[in-house]
Amino acid sequence: MPLVVTGAAGFIGSTLCSALLADGQRVRALDRRHPATDPIAAANLAAVVDHPDFELVTADLLEVDLADLFDGARAVVHLAGQPGVQTSWGDGFAAHVEGNVLGSQVAMEAARRAGVPRFVLASSSSVYGDVARGGAREGAPVSPRSPYGVSKAAAEQLAGVYAERGLPVVALRYFTVYGPRQRPDMALHRIVAAAQGGDAFVRRGDGKQRRELTYVDDVVQATIAAAQADLPPGWIGNVGGGASTSLNALIALVEELGGRPVPIEPSPALPGDPARTAADLRRTTSALGWSPRTSLREGVARQIEWQASVRALLVSP
Ligand code: NAD
Repeated sequence: MPLVVTGAAGFIGSTLCSALLADGQRVRALDRRHPATDPIAAANLAAVVDHPDFELVTADLLEVDLADLFDGARAVVHLAGQPGVQTSWGDGFAAHVEGNVLGSQVAMEAARRAGVPRFVLASSSSVYGDVARGGAREGAPVSPRSPYGVSKAAAEQLAGVYAERGLPVVALRYFTVYGPRQRPDMALHRIVAAAQGGDAFVRRGDGKQRRELTYVDDVVQATIAAAQADLPPGWIGNVGGGASTSLNALIALVEELGGRPVPIEPSPALPGDPARTAADLRRTTSALGWSPRTSLREGVARQIEWQASVRALLVSP
């Protein structure tokens, strides 16, 4: 039975597909970006697109027949969505509602009808907003500070509703994911690109904001575990890297590992950008037997190496 991955041409989705195939599993993948016309999708899927156990459907999930796609699936991992805090303000919110709220609802409705035995929803640390002390705990009330966070919190609420209607859905709150294939709009990608001769890094705020960064392979392993574990419908778990670091410390690490300075263009703080994100991982660790394995130093070194190798393909925003 195949595992269905939506958003498969993206950063996390393509890395998940590679890991599943390497593990001998069949993958049915959906993405609206086509490798023939989208260079990032092409680069992300290059390693898997010809694999005999990999089937790619290029379509918008709001337009395709999901009953066919989900038929016989062992699990659905729903990663398709509209990421990004910055783009969710103003007119951008409509795309976040469509991508994260409507898209999740349509996928969960179809999965329920198809009798899919496990649905994993990609949620985000953005549902928490600011975390003052310690690590954010799943039982705490959510308090998003950006329209993006609101759209992810709404998707989680929908997951609760579909769990009550019998869908075995679980949600994972990913904390700032990084590593090879990271989206070009994300901060670490832009920092590394700046060090490698691209545009100066536009640093929002004073750089003292802290983020828990999570290496993509750790995110993938948690996601695979959540697709297989015996969890109650509606379960929610944090997926974090195990430590929080400031933006300035991250810039210094890129300078040290890459051996080049990062040109910086100071800019006012971004509205909705939390001062600190940090995860309490106890619930996920005990339910999934998972914990993050990649140190920030090791993971950033791998991202620097990857960006150097594909610099010509990716265009910094
Ligand atoms: P990404 O943009 O690289 O991947 C998302 C993919 O979904 C894209 O390839 C896009 O084409 C596809 N997609 C979007 N809407 C679609 C639709 N209607 N039909 C078909 N395909 C569609 O993003 P990512 O960083 O890999 O994130 C994946 C998921 O994880 C998203 O839901 C995101 O909100 C969530 N998440 C990511 C992070 C992170 O740090 N990257 C953190 C928290 C949560």
